[in-house]
Amino acid sequence: MSATPNVSGGVRFLSRNFGLPGQTGIESAMKRGAYEMLKRAVAMKPEDVTALVKASGLRGHGGAGFSAGMKWSFVPKDKFPRYVCVNADESEPGTCKDRLILEYDPHLLLEGALICAFAVQAERIYIYIRGEYFYPWRVMEQAIAEARAKGLIGQNILGTGWSCDVQLATGAGQYICGEETGLIESLEGKKGWPRLKPPFYPAAIGLWGKPTIVNNVETLSFVPRIFEIGAEAFAGMGSPKNGGTGLFSLSGCVKNPGVYELPMGTPLQTLLYDLGGGICGNRKLKALIPGGSSSHILKAEECENLKLDFESVAAAGSMLGSAAVMAIDESVSIPRLTLWMARFYAHESCGQCTPCREGTGWILRLVTRILEGRGRKRDVDDLFQIADNIDGKTICALGQAVAWPTKSYVTKFRHEFDALVKE
Ligand code: SF4
Repeated sequence: MSATPNVSGGVRFLSRNFGLPGQTGIESAMKRGAYEMLKRAVAMKPEDVTALVKASGLRGHGGAGFSAGMKWSFVPKDKFPRYVCVNADESEPGTCKDRLILEYDPHLLLEGALICAFAVQAERIYIYIRGEYFYPWRVMEQAIAEARAKGLIGQNILGTGWSCDVQLATGAGQYICGEETGLIESLEGKKGWPRLKPPFYPAAIGLWGKPTIVNNVETLSFVPRIFEIGAEAFAGMGSPKNGGTGLFSLSGCVKNPGVYELPMGTPLQTLLYDLGGGICGNRKLKALIPGGSSSHILKAEECENLKLDFESVAAAGSMLGSAAVMAIDESVSIPRLTLWMARFYAHESCGQCTPCREGTGWILRLVTRILEGRGRKRDVDDLFQIADNIDGKTICALGQAVAWPTKSYVTKFRHEFDALVKE
């Protein structure tokens, strides 16, 4: 089991039950109000549930930041059966917040997933947990059994006539199964290879060709909270177009790394200095990776007034992604950072498309050569060029995930690469 999460100092809205003794058991969870919002939701029309979530401004917290309610509304009216997939394949380097929900408040996630399933009239929920999450798996397994025993999962839930089962599934430690169509392929028992697009939305053609909503753990866990306080209040907690709060995984060169819950749109300085305690050794911040390893790097001066929401980070030239904020201080070599990132993506490329399969390996070999002192001047240009040749030319977003950071590292810290190569 993880240590008690480091959420102190932030707000405790989604995370209010984290660390409370006995919270993972259904009896204590129900005493604290678990499943009351499901009762409220199933008394509504399914389309009104979707409309409420849409009005709340809830966006996906898995990476893309797409409107959750909008996604639910894409389900075709005449196609059955329908499924909900909970994406618990949390693998983006730097991201470690869904794990806390799975471990500390499994009934919150189950309630959110059930409300989503009711809204789209799904008959089955799959919870796809990354292979390395052994303990979260056990907690969820227990929670599902408890909810089933209470009649909250199964036939004729709460006397509504609607039936829905929940099934756990596990990945095998492959990053790419966090991509929603890779996850679906894996659930179907195939290799976790992302699908060609179009179709763009599994909501129309998903698991076994049927309408499927794929939402991340944190996203679905917000749904009961939205019912509790209302869509308007939830929207008002964040910044424009960014409803509610978010769980930010803070790591890198900070004194107090951890997961912090903050209203969307909170200034970066609050996370980094007030909660994170500032930069290790009181060194200077050199750069910031704001949204997991696949986001563009920002120089320190580019994030002085940065606010932590999707629009603000995009306007600064990067993306909020999975809200994994990594601080990089002046002692860190950006070429070394490139090596670390390239190793990961070269290992995780599924090999399905040539630019990604070959390009990730080329980037890794080039940056290794540069760091070993065998680099040539043109290698730095080639590094950028290879990344550019991957960008936008692949089946899934892993291509961008390696191209965007590489291009931004080389562009913004070119002098560090040049200093390592021969003329
Ligand atoms: S971009 Fe990479 S990970 Fe994605 S489908 Fe192509 S080869 Fe596989």
